[in-house]
Amino acid sequence: MTKITIAKGDGIGPEIMEATLKILKAAGAAIETEEIEVGEKVYLSGNTSGISNEAWDIIRRNKLFLKAPITTPQGGGYKSLNVSTRKFLGLYSNVRPCKSLHPFVKTKHPVMDLVIIRENEEDLYAGIEHQQTDEVVQCLKLISRPGCEKIVRYAFEYARQEKRKKVTCFTKDNIMKQTDGLFHRVFDEIAKEYPEIQTEHWIIDIGAAKLADTPEVFDVIVMPNLYGDVLSDIAAQITGSVGLGGSANIGEECAMFEAIHGSAPDIAGKNIANPSGLLQGAVMMLNHIGQTAVAEKIQNAWLKTLEDGTHTPDIYKEGSSKQKLGTREFAEAVIANLGQKPSILKPVTSASSYTMVLPKYQRKAPAKKELVGVDMFVHWTGSDPNELANIIHPISTEELGLTMITNRGIKVWPEGFKETFLTDHWRCRFKSPNISVIPKAQIIGLMQKALDLNIDVIKTENLYKFDGVPAFSLGQGQ
Ligand code: NAD
Repeated sequence: MTKITIAKGDGIGPEIMEATLKILKAAGAAIETEEIEVGEKVYLSGNTSGISNEAWDIIRRNKLFLKAPITTPQGGGYKSLNVSTRKFLGLYSNVRPCKSLHPFVKTKHPVMDLVIIRENEEDLYAGIEHQQTDEVVQCLKLISRPGCEKIVRYAFEYARQEKRKKVTCFTKDNIMKQTDGLFHRVFDEIAKEYPEIQTEHWIIDIGAAKLADTPEVFDVIVMPNLYGDVLSDIAAQITGSVGLGGSANIGEECAMFEAIHGSAPDIAGKNIANPSGLLQGAVMMLNHIGQTAVAEKIQNAWLKTLEDGTHTPDIYKEGSSKQKLGTREFAEAVIANLGQKPSILKPVTSASSYTMVLPKYQRKAPAKKELVGVDMFVHWTGSDPNELANIIHPISTEELGLTMITNRGIKVWPEGFKETFLTDHWRCRFKSPNISVIPKAQIIGLMQKALDLNIDVIKTENLYKFDGVPAFSLGQGQ
């Protein structure tokens, strides 16, 4: 018996959880459940995180969590429980299989069968945001080497395990050369360890267009958090229904399984919700804990039920569907089909063992890190970059000269364009003339002089060379 934590959630949550657990039990899943309360009720009781400390203890003890969707109340500083669960528990990998069930679920892409593997912890989801000037706010995009290595390795191991042939990487490294550049570089490094798997990289914009147009050319796709968030919804939707998709959030110690969709308050309590999304999450959980025979039995019964035209109202189509059933009745139909296989849709055959053991991230020997300059960000309401250069110049030293001013990344001094739109947010780059190493104290000296001259410095970013290679972007147009 494997003990799992369950949360029935909000809206349609309790109905689809009840249906899912009933199917799991009837199929002989060796699980024991421990229920916790999370979500709307907890939020509205004054707990802005939507979960109590006692509930965290239970999740951490059982390590496996099957969660129905929850409602995050609007406004009022409520924190998303989904984001905090992923991050607190180190659930770095979000796995979303997106497969068409043509002709039983209407789709423009009948042969689509892909899996999106989304990095789940970092990128713009670090939630580090600041207003810096009247006109400019900032969100920090953090990408780490361990984050990249873990998710990319997961994608390749997953592909190997599932006998998939190709892993595609999506980034925007033509623009974000440091952050997305690292993700792409790590992808290329790790790909070499899996010579039997075909690999490719697409720039996200054209990759996304291709995904929406011809999803059948993709197999496994790995990508940073934000892109994965957007594209996994698109991919799920174009299979025909986002309501049929499940998702797994996998960490080194814990894992959480859920439906892709939300709590659907508009149809709550009416016994019409489709329990398939959560059921798909539960099937992924059974595979994850090695109960692969039960997972296979449920999946085939579910496919057979859909194939029989036994549909909940969200996917019911006059003509092609045969029977319109409520949540509970649909679950009963799946249970009645346990032990049977679909005849038109391809039945699943699970591996005898499913446990994926990934090597722990090994920190590399540190590179030689040398300080070679600083970007000083300044709040200034003038409009002539030459004037700002004149104000700033006096703080330069022999070793740290003003070399460039940018506004929102675009070079405006020296030799800017008068057409460039200017905000009140300026970056002044100070570097030694031949990018040689400077002591940190020089930067403090620079800051002090700026303070003396009443220059409103918002923040600084140090410019480093790592192993002799400059590790910062140039100004656009530089
Ligand atoms: P939603 O996914 O709940 O609903 C969108 C539409 O799809 C609705 O018309 C709904 O009736 C329908 N739908 C969704 N699931 C269905 C199902 N299983 N069967 C039949 N129809 C279904 O998205 P929303 O309306 O934007 O969000 C509602 C609430 O859910 C919000 O509070 C949001 O924060 C929350 N939410 C939670 C999660 C989660 O817990 N993982 C994810 C997304 C949204």
